[in-house]
Amino acid sequence: MKPHFIHSFLQNDPSLRNLHKPGRYLGREWNTVIKNARSVDFSIALAFPDVYEIGMSHVGLKILYHILNADPSVRAERAFLPWPDMGELLKEKGIPLYTLESATPVKDFELMGISLQTELNYTNVLYLLELSGIPLRSKNRGKEYPVVLGGGPCTANPEPMAPFFDAFLIGEGEEAIGEIVAILRNTRDLSRKSTLAALAGIRGMYVPQLYTPFYFSDGILKKVEVNHPRAPEKVHRRWVRDLEAVPYPDRVPVPYISVVHDRAAVEISRGCTRGCRFCQAGILYRPHRERSPETVCRLAEALVESCGYNEVSFFSLSTTDHSQIREMTTELSGRLNARRVSLTLPSLRMDRFSLQIARNLSSVRKSGLTFAPEAGSERLRRVINKDLTDQQVLDTIVQAFSAGWRDLKLYFMFGLPTETPRDITAIAALIEEGLKLGKKAAGRAVNMHVSLSAFVPKPHTPFQWCSQQTVEYFEEHAALLRKNLRHLRRQVRLSWSDFQLNLVEAALARGDRHSADVVETAYRMGCIMDGWSEYFSFTRWEKAFSRCGRDPALYAQRERKEQEVLPWDHLMIGVGRGFLRRELQKGMREETTRMCRPGYPCHTCGVC
Ligand code: SF4
Repeated sequence: MKPHFIHSFLQNDPSLRNLHKPGRYLGREWNTVIKNARSVDFSIALAFPDVYEIGMSHVGLKILYHILNADPSVRAERAFLPWPDMGELLKEKGIPLYTLESATPVKDFELMGISLQTELNYTNVLYLLELSGIPLRSKNRGKEYPVVLGGGPCTANPEPMAPFFDAFLIGEGEEAIGEIVAILRNTRDLSRKSTLAALAGIRGMYVPQLYTPFYFSDGILKKVEVNHPRAPEKVHRRWVRDLEAVPYPDRVPVPYISVVHDRAAVEISRGCTRGCRFCQAGILYRPHRERSPETVCRLAEALVESCGYNEVSFFSLSTTDHSQIREMTTELSGRLNARRVSLTLPSLRMDRFSLQIARNLSSVRKSGLTFAPEAGSERLRRVINKDLTDQQVLDTIVQAFSAGWRDLKLYFMFGLPTETPRDITAIAALIEEGLKLGKKAAGRAVNMHVSLSAFVPKPHTPFQWCSQQTVEYFEEHAALLRKNLRHLRRQVRLSWSDFQLNLVEAALARGDRHSADVVETAYRMGCIMDGWSEYFSFTRWEKAFSRCGRDPALYAQRERKEQEVLPWDHLMIGVGRGFLRRELQKGMREETTRMCRPGYPCHTCGVC
């Protein structure tokens, strides 16, 4: 279908007015890069498996869009998963999913890049492919279809999605994307199989059809073998050595509708070596790398100038660990104040928080403050390697309330390895003491929003061998916490994650190739938008698992033996299995490991 047909549909079809947020589908936002298809010789559709307002807040997409479109011979265009009402309208009108820049059908591009941020987007990927008119499984796609490439954190274990993708990039894309484009250009005249074999030669590229998994009779994975001479035995993660040397966007498309993160986001550092043992990102993005204050300030001011944002946010896994965070916030908030632009930080650690940073942040507008103690007791925090004393937690709470904040948001997890009911009541005790001290420090009543999520054991973490607790366990412990905080309900707002959703998430996170049949069956049964509570259906997922003869508990709640082959063992993130195992054992002994940074000991995790 030609773009002008789709343009005319977008401009004239009255049914668009009845859609939920039609602004998602119009494109042509300020700073959009629109290139004439005839003036370029390579085209990429960057497709996000969730709705516009989520995808437009994703920094990775902005970085790739910026790098690709900086090359005059390449056009990169965006596509987002439509809300189901628009999805049905597209099907009804026979209109394939299109890109926002030029209303070109996604299937007319040479490469379709899909970012996998969460397992809850897996059925959305199939919806994207179906709406684009692209066969769901790679084996059913010929050269007339784009190469479908996956990226993002879920490639830490892409096996449940392996049959739907032609290839995955394990790691960071800034340097690899140019190599991928070059290979696809140079193999246009070869068969799809030859193209994929050539892609497998790029460091970080995983072409799943070149690997064959073998299972024991009980369905447990036995081994994964290479079945093609050009595929490496192990695929090694790709990461950028010098963050200062890679491009970062100084202008981005500015949405006409409000999106989740409606501000200028500047990535100040990448990676975190604090080593929280449940945290997958802390392992996937090692080692810690920084952008200089000069670069950060230049980027922040350029984004304010080019996009008109009135808020700048620092983006990183552990913002207050940037070696020059105080100087940088002071310098930048000073520069931005004059323009009435505020500076905000994502969730903050509770040990290096300083009043000075808080004051800098709140000089223009006081935004919410979020902390993540994660566990209620010092013992359990040592198990997960979050080396915080109760006193440090309380000190930070008092600092924040005495600095003028009235509401704090605190994140906790439960179902962590070795957890007991005492660790749950310890959360209540910490909250109660924090409120008491906070009220005294602020001289008035203060409030807390306490958010709890169920622990999901993730691949490539020290807890990758651990089992997830049952849904019943989470419900029981949630009730215990509610009972212990009932008398504070005026000051404490409690919120929980959906425990059944967390079971599906864990089953997919630790799934294998067999899980792909479950994903497709769930999709065919109507599962999409699983990350949206109004759409998630645990019943359908349960049926999908049983129709495929699979049990989600086998994936989520089964402890893995030390010698067991894990579905992601052939993907080398850089942190060695031995290091992860040692960290698990230290956790079980309630011992902590200090972060590794210049001036701190290296724990030989294997990355550097
Ligand atoms: S190799 Fe050493 S310095 Fe590098 S990330 Fe691992 S522990 Fe840290």
